[in-house]
Amino acid sequence: MMRYSRLLIPTLRDDPSDAETVSHKLMLRAGLIRKVAAGVYSLLPLGLRVLSRVEKIVREEMDHAGAQEILLPALQPSGLWEETGRWQKYGKELMRLKDRHQRDFCLGPTHEEVITDLLRNEVRSYKQLPLNLYQIQTKFRDEIRPRFGLMRGREFIMKDAYSFDADLSEAEKTYELMYKAYQNIFQRVGLDFRAVEADSGLIGGSSSHEFMVLAQTGEDAIVSCQQCDYAANMEQAEVVATETGLDTGETIPQIESVSTPGYQSVEDVSAFFKVSSDKLLKTLVFIADEKPYAVLVRGDHEINEVKLKKYLNAGELALADKKTLISVTNGPPGFSGPVALKGMEIIADQSVIPGVPYVVGANQKDTHLQYAVAGRDFVVDHFSDLRNVVSDDVCPRCGGLISIDRGIEVGHVFMLGTKYSEAMNATFLDQQGKSQYFVMGCYGIGVSRIIAAAIEQNNDEKGILWPRQIAPFDVEVIPMQEKKEAVMQAAIDISKSLQNQGYNVLLEDRKERAGVKFNDADLLGIPIQIVIGERDLKSGFVEIKQRKSGEKALTPLAEILETLSKIYGNVV
Ligand code: ATP
Ligand code: MG
Repeated sequence: MMRYSRLLIPTLRDDPSDAETVSHKLMLRAGLIRKVAAGVYSLLPLGLRVLSRVEKIVREEMDHAGAQEILLPALQPSGLWEETGRWQKYGKELMRLKDRHQRDFCLGPTHEEVITDLLRNEVRSYKQLPLNLYQIQTKFRDEIRPRFGLMRGREFIMKDAYSFDADLSEAEKTYELMYKAYQNIFQRVGLDFRAVEADSGLIGGSSSHEFMVLAQTGEDAIVSCQQCDYAANMEQAEVVATETGLDTGETIPQIESVSTPGYQSVEDVSAFFKVSSDKLLKTLVFIADEKPYAVLVRGDHEINEVKLKKYLNAGELALADKKTLISVTNGPPGFSGPVALKGMEIIADQSVIPGVPYVVGANQKDTHLQYAVAGRDFVVDHFSDLRNVVSDDVCPRCGGLISIDRGIEVGHVFMLGTKYSEAMNATFLDQQGKSQYFVMGCYGIGVSRIIAAAIEQNNDEKGILWPRQIAPFDVEVIPMQEKKEAVMQAAIDISKSLQNQGYNVLLEDRKERAGVKFNDADLLGIPIQIVIGERDLKSGFVEIKQRKSGEKALTPLAEILETLSKIYGNVV
């Protein structure tokens, strides 16, 4: 039993001005966290209690799945990262520093290098496999936009696991085990989640899944089928080609140059030409491994860079900067177009239809071309699925209707294959005595992000509604008149007996008005409140309130335990 008066729970009555999402506001208001710097937070007692409960569930399920816990250093020498090429590739998100001897280090954003180095030194034989090692540890990523409190921090707590198997089929079994462990974890935490197919890099198929918590404020878009169980993140979700060519016998006018001073956005240009935005083509110039490509996508569609990168099999892909764009297109930014474009391949999304007249940029300031037709006025070298799914698209599996929802990524399981073991020459001897690369998988959970995600999904206008499995306390005992000895004594007795039964109890012993206590109790969101009032107590009753449903019941003192175990079932 903990006494409220002794705990640091700095609640705030009003929404902090610098918090945008509900979870961020409530975490500050309920005194769970305090900001130290952008994306860097202190966890106060209540926050830490929630974190510990999440960690406990994660540990139990990981151990149950046969993984073992270790703790790797956060401080990592650059040499390991140079072996995999990630010292350069990871870019600005990697927190780099030098030691007193001017040697380069980073603060680990992830631990593939360190763990692969460990295993290549310590594991020699197939007999020592499989191995699945995990840790719960602070990670560092210098995110461009740290925000929403614990949701996207620059320092955050992750559970990361790395598996090592002798071959792909063994690795797939481990992947399955982890997938199931993740389902158990998110179920037990009490989240409404979905596992979605994610971009799996080079190894195809179902070897990468993200676990998404459904929430309006989620930073990720999830595509799912309303009929079958297809679900994928936006980066991965396939578009089925449905558009066909023109069916009208109309002749298309000759291509024509039109002065469009100041008309640049899709909206403005389509209004100017009085056509819908699907009759406009955006021409984007990308540089893939130092080579320029012009990519065409309809005005009402968005390019999907993950698909494009995969299609081009590019290591590096980025939109051309202004200077490069001007030099390769010979035209100003904002007016690029495919007609007479030289020196680069032109790739179009498959929704761009040959034979259809489009409005395109003219590679000239304030000029567009209308009636530009692929196949007549410009050449498209390749067509492919290069855009994001939109709500009019259909399910790639069953043709059913799809929905697009928002989600928060709380976990990721990923089949790595031999990417890291090859790069770092990490091998073992197989049954035939032959040297083989480890087949690896990696599995991450945003442990601190889960707290924010849980609140995002469970709150009302008064405060947090903790899923009971991760609540900072199971029960809050609230004596209304703490100055009255009988009331306070009953509160203490009830708290103690509940604590003895295994409940975590917060005793609200502050010298505050009852109204203040009730408001704070609702804000903190502990699932059950036991309110002790002088009058009810005299007749042998307390009030048990369930925070989420608001249901209140006068309960005889002797039945408190029974009532609680009915509400909690066998969860505690
Ligand atoms: P995101 O797309 O959100 O940046 P990621 O793909 O970079 O995530 P992983 O490298 O797969 O994330 O990390 C594993 C898990 O760690 C993620 O599923 C997420 O829950 C969590 N995570 C990642 N970045 C952050 C962050 N900046 N703050 C808090 N949690 C994070
Ligand atoms: Mg990231």
